[in-house]
Amino acid sequence: MHLAVYPPDGRVRVAAPSHMSDDNIRLAVISKLSWIRKQQVAFKAQPRQSQREYVTGESLYLFGKRYRLDVVEIYGPHEVGIKNNTRLQLIISPGTTLKNREKVLNEWYRAKLKKRIPEMIARLEPFIGVRVAHWGVKKMKTKWGSCTIEQRRIWLNLGLAKKPVECLEYILVHEMVHLLERHHNDNFKRYMNRYLPQWQIYRELLNKAPLGHEDWGY
Ligand SMILES: [Zn+2]
Repeated sequence: MHLAVYPPDGRVRVAAPSHMSDDNIRLAVISKLSWIRKQQVAFKAQPRQSQREYVTGESLYLFGKRYRLDVVEIYGPHEVGIKNNTRLQLIISPGTTLKNREKVLNEWYRAKLKKRIPEMIARLEPFIGVRVAHWGVKKMKTKWGSCTIEQRRIWLNLGLAKKPVECLEYILVHEMVHLLERHHNDNFKRYMNRYLPQWQIYRELLNKAPLGHEDWGY
């Protein structure tokens, strides 16, 4: 069973197996009421994602798919991998700090994202009729992407690795269209409609992912 609280109003969404009765779902949600209230209060206090702990059982996303984190503490090199298509295994030395867990995972996210980008750019360049001279991935607090038109340089937010891959394409098309039109005007919109007709759907997808979520057994 999966329970999520969505911004900005703290709307609650519950996913439950079809064999579960309504009464049991209701009971399960009631048992989580104080957690739900806590999430809703947290949204009001701070609009960004709550602090992660990187412990077993936590949910992490890769390209829009949810994985359950399994932390394995053994001595040796750090390692991240997907197991059984459902688990994200993080192998770290015992006592690895929160900051270093995050660092290991971010490097893995960065590699996953960077692997997807070149083929996408190569496909979009002849389609849109522009050339990207440089691109890179970095953490950004307020933007999903940016474009320096003079250098034809594009930056993509590391957080896109967690979003459905269509969101990455949307941001990439958006930044590449800036090589044709600097401003977010009607001309820009016309280009977006031409090169990615579903861009508004992807934009919505990008902004509606849950900021707080929790899993529990049933
Ligand atoms: Zn823009």
